[in-house]
Amino acid sequence: MGEDQLHIMFFPFMAAGHIIPTLDMVKLFSSRGNVKITLVITHSNSSMVAQQLENQENINFKQIEFPDQDSGLPKEYDTVDKIKGAPELFPKFLKALELMQNPFEKILQEFSPDCLVADMFYPWATNAAAKFDIPRLVFHGVSLFALCGSEVMRRDKPFKNVSSDTEHFVIPNIPHEIVFTRQQLSDTDREEFETDMTRLMRRVLETDKKSYGILINSFLELDPVYTEYYKTVFGRRAWNIGPLLLCRRQGRELQSSGDDNNVCLRWLDGKKPNSVIYLCFGSGSVFTTAQLQDIAFGLEAAGQQFIWVVRQEVDENWLPEGFEEKILSDNRGLIIKGWAPQVRILEHKAVGAFLTHCGWNSILEAICAGVPMVTWPLFAEQFYNERFVTRILGIGIPVGAPKYGMISSGVSKEAIAKALKAIMEGEKALEVRNKANESKKMAWKAVEKGGSSYNELSALLEEIRQLNR
Ligand code: UDP
Repeated sequence: MGEDQLHIMFFPFMAAGHIIPTLDMVKLFSSRGNVKITLVITHSNSSMVAQQLENQENINFKQIEFPDQDSGLPKEYDTVDKIKGAPELFPKFLKALELMQNPFEKILQEFSPDCLVADMFYPWATNAAAKFDIPRLVFHGVSLFALCGSEVMRRDKPFKNVSSDTEHFVIPNIPHEIVFTRQQLSDTDREEFETDMTRLMRRVLETDKKSYGILINSFLELDPVYTEYYKTVFGRRAWNIGPLLLCRRQGRELQSSGDDNNVCLRWLDGKKPNSVIYLCFGSGSVFTTAQLQDIAFGLEAAGQQFIWVVRQEVDENWLPEGFEEKILSDNRGLIIKGWAPQVRILEHKAVGAFLTHCGWNSILEAICAGVPMVTWPLFAEQFYNERFVTRILGIGIPVGAPKYGMISSGVSKEAIAKALKAIMEGEKALEVRNKANESKKMAWKAVEKGGSSYNELSALLEEIRQLNR
């Protein structure tokens, strides 16, 4: 081990939307010379992670003991996917997250890294690292706009000034005019009553203030205004080091886990450029059956070709009668029940637009592929992401999602059809597509040697080296 070699430990939250960018981040850090990585993971994710990172000499894994007995959760519930189908286990899951502090401290003591990058869902990690004099960076996996917007929302409470859940109000004291309604806010934003989740989120935000800084999966040119705002108004440190997924590229191609024989990719090969809409709502979104049917009616009415990924369990008769047979016989659409190779699909030249739930990873993937979006936020920080994409970047059209919720409903088939048409045809479609292409160029440039994200990571690594000396 060279004198100046840095040892960085990563501890991701065990959900796809957090593990995927963390693996990219691990690859990125390890590609920057003289950096050794230890990745701490729970048992259920270990084989997937090992597969993704095989043959990488400077990356080691450490499996963390899951506090099954003390939390009352079976061992195999060490990943969020398991909890999704069983909300009654959520409090125990949160308890398990808390109880991981002890086994994690043992790992810190054993490995003694120079720096810890731990997910925001482990607020205790900053104190744990401080015990061993290790700086802790927080990985939120969201944009600075979303962090700033939601912090101001909680601080200034503009939703108190409206008389109904559907009345519009503007987030005050930020550089853009961003409109919300109260029913589009999470419990954490509204802070009207205490739940385990609101308590956890409050601690997460307090922890940001005490940590060394935060790592952002974005790039300066995409969000210069809120990068500046975060630093000057909140007085905290942030490094834009993304889009992290671009470290997956080989030559000019992006690589994801999908293979070239994938049915979606083969189907797209037979389609004209920009002629297909891709619909996917992240790793675990759920819709009512009525809403799924309205999506089908909306697709029908929009008259566009599509690939629609449906990841939830569905009833036998979840689609309008004859819908699937018709789209297959017309060769107009594909319905994928399961996991789609999203990055490869978005990159395919036949894909002209993306109907997305506005998860931050999905948005970045669309930006890197230059694909404009129809935005349909559901929960988490997705309503902020929607505003960012449609109001600030101008690379998307909103479907008009009315309400925050884990189970989504309330968007009419007419609204769906209108947005899907608007993103594919006419002047607005062209304008949005051109802007999406500009964002794509900026994204690729940011990660090139000498680009903004490249330089920010160099500066961060140098700073940690200096601290170490
Ligand atoms: N994803 C995928 N195939 C699917 C569904 C999701 O590859 O069928 C990937 C997607 O490319 C993204 C991640 O899963 O990298 C989802 O992350 P995001 O932040 O968009 O949403 P979340 O799942 O966290 O709500």
